Amino acid sequence: MLRNNTEKYMSTSVILLLTTSILKHILRHMRYTIKDLQKQFPNDDACLDAIFEMRYGDVNTCPKCGVADTKFYRVKGRKCYACMHCGYQLHPLAQTIFHKSDTPLTTWFYVMFQVSVAKNGMSAKEVARSTGVTYKTAHRMLKLVRSLMLQGTDFLSGIVEVDETYIGGVRKKKYQHSKTQWENKTAVIGIVEKGGMARTLVTKHADATVTIPFLKANIAPGSTVHR
Ligand SMILES: [Zn+2]
Repeated sequence: MLRNNTEKYMSTSVILLLTTSILKHILRHMRYTIKDLQKQFPNDDACLDAIFEMRYGDVNTCPKCGVADTKFYRVKGRKCYACMHCGYQLHPLAQTIFHKSDTPLTTWFYVMFQVSVAKNGMSAKEVARSTGVTYKTAHRMLKLVRSLMLQGTDFLSGIVEVDETYIGGVRKKKYQHSKTQWENKTAVIGIVEKGGMARTLVTKHADATVTIPFLKANIAPGSTVHR
């Protein structure tokens, strides 16, 4: 059961950060229209940059080479970013609803915008007509965006404890090349609110590229975090 949560939380973190930080905040403070959205995110590169920033903006140490204050540059023609020192790649769309989707990110952003602002919702028919995707695709997009937005935006707050533990080391098959012990283990990151709820994330690699987006998506700003 824990395992199934991994994808859900990563998807939730990205979509929540995008919708709350980019859309809802702006909507609340000024008249943010579809034209503003198109101006802010004119193409897929701009959308990808925003997702990268949301997910990895706080990561300034490369998880591979360990160089602090490194820069990640966009890899030409690919939807990823690489460390300027060692070339280690970060894939901002991995484990999100945008992953492996042929639909342009601008269309996804448009649907997220419409779902955020339209009080009576938007029909798949309308999405299909205004974006040019098929009815089936529009239906799937709406379903995904809605389900993630309904998962709740409640952050854990107050005194929050973060814990990280490694479990397992089970080998399913014999590999040709021997795997290191580290690779066989599974990390579990847990966040527990004092007297409140808890969230867990099961991941293969518990480096900053995984933990920071997870913590950001689940802990309210201003909380006291104990490790
Ligand atoms: Zn590096």
